[in-house]
Amino acid sequence: MRALIFHQPKKVSVDTVDDPKIEKQDDIIVKVTSTVICGSDLHILNGFVPQSKPLIMGHEFMGIIEETGKEINNLKKFDNAVRS
Ligand SMILES: [Zn+2]
Repeated sequence: MRALIFHQPKKVSVDTVDDPKIEKQDDIIVKVTSTVICGSDLHILNGFVPQSKPLIMGHEFMGIIEETGKEINNLKKFDNAVRS
């Protein structure tokens, strides 16, 4: 998948990264249809929140559920999802 990656203060790029996979049974994979960069991302972008490794930005998003872990029983594939 493609993602906006923070590399170092004031340096980001859109890169290809590994597709997500269910690692824990309470994980959910969402196909992101819209996202935003919020104030927290700006603090990271400007170097006020040091990161030890590259970071996928855009933690506030909406999309469609693609897969759920076995412990998720109130959501299913194709449900809409919002994370803010
Ligand atoms: Zn935020």
